[in-house]
Formats: sequence, structure tokens, C-alpha cells
Amino acid sequence: MQTSAHHVVVVGAGILGTALARQLALRGARVTVLDREAPAAGATSVSFGWLTNQTYFRNGDSLPDTSSRHYFGLHRFALGAWRALHHALGDSLGVRWHGAVQLAPARGADRDLLESDLARRLAWGSPSYRVDATQARALLPGAVVADGTTGFHTPDEGSADPNAAVAALVEAGRKLGVRYVTGTEVRAVEGDGGRASAVVTGDGRIACDDVVITCGADSPALLEPLGIQVPLAESYGSIVHLTAVPLFLGPVLLSSDIHAIQRTDGRVVVARHYSGSPVGDPDGLDSERLHADAVAVLPALRAAAIEKVTVGRRIVPADGLPVIGHSPRYANVRSVTTD
Ligand SMILES: Cc1cc2nc3c(=O)[nH]c(=O)nc-3n(C[C@H](O)[C@H](O)[C@H](O)COP(=O)(O)OP(=O)(O)OC[C@H]3O[C@@H](n4cnc5c(N)ncnc54)[C@H](O)[C@@H]3O)c2cc1C
Repeated sequence: MQTSAHHVVVVGAGILGTALARQLALRGARVTVLDREAPAAGATSVSFGWLTNQTYFRNGDSLPDTSSRHYFGLHRFALGAWRALHHALGDSLGVRWHGAVQLAPARGADRDLLESDLARRLAWGSPSYRVDATQARALLPGAVVADGTTGFHTPDEGSADPNAAVAALVEAGRKLGVRYVTGTEVRAVEGDGGRASAVVTGDGRIACDDVVITCGADSPALLEPLGIQVPLAESYGSIVHLTAVPLFLGPVLLSSDIHAIQRTDGRVVVARHYSGSPVGDPDGLDSERLHADAVAVLPALRAAAIEKVTVGRRIVPADGLPVIGHSPRYANVRSVTTD
């Protein structure tokens, strides 16, 4: 990627594709991003937007500690990348750095999980620290926190408005010469001699020197013919988006009943779990009930109305680990698939 003649095609314009396109352009590549719909058409637009270095994952129970720890390290690296991005692109990203407060009742399964998560964070290098109910109230002035509640605060976590972030990344990429082509589906990657030479779209072939595939939940269809197995769990998450209220919620709040983030423009997203409804929840989400539960914890949300409910497919590799690497068939085809 030394000269502007080196052409990289990025397939998929979610948060990964748009961020990678900007990075590649900064390094001198000529970049084309292809999306079959539009930027942020996939999981990104319906993400909760917590910038986290959690230690447990959706199928984390099945992961040995060493694997969870690698994923934790990736998350810590990502927090640094978000900081750098915020510094470079400014507030248009919709990022807020107020930390995250995770709370659990005095006893029970949620408490046990919280204790285990905190122990892992402390052992693995997260700046999390324990808080009691009084300290939690100080961190969350607008929240009702029951006596006996315990929890922890992670001050270097935050949140991003995923749609604002993608819009800012697209604009930044365009200024660097990135070409965005929307409404164009990539159907295959062609090549020979161990290297890809073109992507095949519904409108014809596009010649390229490198390919990066960031198609989220749709990545397997393109990757499997290239020798990359990405078995994804079938998993959806629902989030309720509330209308804007004056800014009152600083940290990301993750309590047993509700998870909530206030965006920079005052809108609030609430969910049962940060990735939407709980994994494996067959009943979906009762948005009115969730709003009522959120009001019980955050009374300021009484003034907010339900704007929309979104459902997104989680990108959950079946073994719980991200898939990052290159194709054994074509060394110049790379893929990033992660939740
Ligand atoms: C409900 C929910 C809550 C979440 N909450 C969080 C959270 O709090 N924190 C967090 O870190 N993560 C969260 N996630 C996960 C996060 O949203 C995803 O990891 C991230 O958005 C993935 O981005 P991506 O760019 O890989 O994929 P996507 O955003 O899915 O983008 C893929 C793009 O590829 C395009 N595409 C697909 N196939 C083709 C093709 N053949 N040709 C051309 N284009 C194609 C699609 O149109 C789409 O625009 C959540 C996910 C869900 C569903």
C-alpha cells in the first residue's frame, strides 16, 4: 500500500468497513467501499453503542479464560482506537466518555456474575473499581439506586452514537479520497495464483489489489468459498429508542433490569441487555414494559416517548471469538467479523 495506485476494495460499510477505509486511505491506498444498501445498514445502525472492555461474552460460558482474555485485550485496544478516532474527528462521532456503571442487587445470580466480572477486570488490567449504593448514586445523580446495591465503575469506558460515527467516518473517508458505492452487492471474489484480482458485483467486475470483507452477519456467504469458515449463531437483539430529554445520564448504566445510554443529542436507548433483548429470549421485547422499568430506575425518562424499536442480528461467531484473518485461498483477502 505504498502508492495511490494500490486499490483496496472494502466490502460492507458498517462501523468496521468505514473505519478501515479511512485508515487505509490515511496510509495511501486508493479505497473503494461497496455496500449492497447504504452505510450503517447492518448491525451498526441498531447497536447499543457501549464502548466496553467487558470480560464476559454472549457465549462466554463456553470460552476458556485464556480466550476470553484475548477478546478482552482486543476490546481494550478498541477503546484506545476510539479515543484516537475521537481526537481526530471530534464530536461529530457522537462519543461520550463518562465511564460505565454496572450494578447488581445484594445477592443472587446477577451479583455473582458481577463479582466474577469485576475480579477478571482487576486481574486483567481494567481500571474498574468497586462502588457501593452511595457511590453509585453520586455517579448517577438521576438514578434510583436501592440500598444494598453493589457494583463497579469503569471510568475509561463510554458510548458512541453508531449512526453519527459512521456518517463522520464516511465524510472523513471521502475527504481522503475514499469512494463509496452504495446499492451494489458483492457476489464473489475472483483471482488466481493465490491472489484475488477482482470482486464480482451485480453491475460487473471491479479490479483490485486487496479485498477486505466486513459484511457482518452476511460475511459467511462471501467468506466460505474463500476457505474461511465463519459459523455464526442465529441471534437477534431488540433496543428501544426514546425521544430526547435534557442530558442527565453520564455513564453507561447496566443494572439487572435495564441498560441505558444517553446519546449526545439527548436521545436515550434502553434495553434489557446491552446487546438488546437477552440472548435466546424467545418472546422478544415488550417496549412499553421496558420503558416503564426504565422510568422506575431513571425517572427523567418519564418525559421521553418511545421513538422506535429496532431489531438487529447480532454477529456472534459460534465459538464466541472474533474472526480476523486472511483467506487461505487468496492471501490478499482479509476479513473481520466480530460482535
Ligand atoms: C442489538 C445489538 C446491540 C449491540 N450492542 C453493542 C454494543 O453495545 N457495543 C458493541 O461494541 N457492539 C454492539 N453490538 C455489535 C455491533 O453492532 C457490531 O459488532 C458492529 O456493528 C458490526 O459492524 P460491521 O461493520 O462488522 O457489520 P454491519 O454493521 O452489519 O455492516 C455490514 C454491512 O455490509 C453490507 N453487506 C452485507 N453483505 C454485503 C455484500 N454481499 N455486498 C455488499 N455489502 C454487503 C451490509 O449492507 C452492511 O451495511 C450490538 C449489536 C446488536 C445487534
